[in-house]
Amino acid sequence: MLQIKRRDQITFLQSEVLGRVPGIIHAFSTRRGDTRDLNLGPHSSANPIVQMNRVRFLASVGLPGWPMMKLRQVHSDRVVNIQDTSAATDAVEGDAAVTALKGAVLAVQTADCVPILIADSHRTAVAAVHAGWRGTAARIVESTVARLREEFALDPQDLVAAVGPHIGVCCYEVGLEVIDAMADPALFEHKPEWMKPHLNLGEANRRQLINSGLREEGIEVSSLCTRCREDLFHSYRRDGKKMGHMLSIIGIVP
Ligand SMILES: [Zn+2]
Repeated sequence: MLQIKRRDQITFLQSEVLGRVPGIIHAFSTRRGDTRDLNLGPHSSANPIVQMNRVRFLASVGLPGWPMMKLRQVHSDRVVNIQDTSAATDAVEGDAAVTALKGAVLAVQTADCVPILIADSHRTAVAAVHAGWRGTAARIVESTVARLREEFALDPQDLVAAVGPHIGVCCYEVGLEVIDAMADPALFEHKPEWMKPHLNLGEANRRQLINSGLREEGIEVSSLCTRCREDLFHSYRRDGKKMGHMLSIIGIVP
């Protein structure tokens, strides 16, 4: 279970499995700031509040002033290796980032989609993944682990992963397009009171991590539903296009 922490008037969640890796800092944001809703995206110079909130969030987690590397998320299966903190990653399309850089933060932005943070126990590299149904169907988390193996010669048995808060199977009604794309009936639940099947996105990504060679005990999956927990999270399904965003971040301490 992810642990809820509160520091400098900002509430965030941290995973036990990632927390056990020395020299790795990570967090999943919530909407709880001091008095106002803590919105952390989308980033734009026209939105000074989001910029200010991001600075405060990084500081409260213990990464004050670290450069934040976030890709332009497009619901793809594209994995990008970030090798330079001066790169303008906001302009690069992709939904998973890996890096061996120390003193830099990888970030993904979500509101119902699944954020996944990965690190190896020797703190060689970290990864941040954004997986909605499209990314999950395209097996982006498997591509990310494959990239970690190729680029950094990491053994999947040494990897730990936290699957952050996302829309739960309780609330994630899906249509035929999604059912066809997922190609695994075991990921869906049916109840008499539901009009359509519901998809378990967290379980889908957990299974992909196992397929990739991670140990079951090295994987933690948040059971918190972004749509149900209005007190903690922004949600696209609940709030529509006016919703805010959470950020999930991970970095290697220099
Ligand atoms: Zn729910």
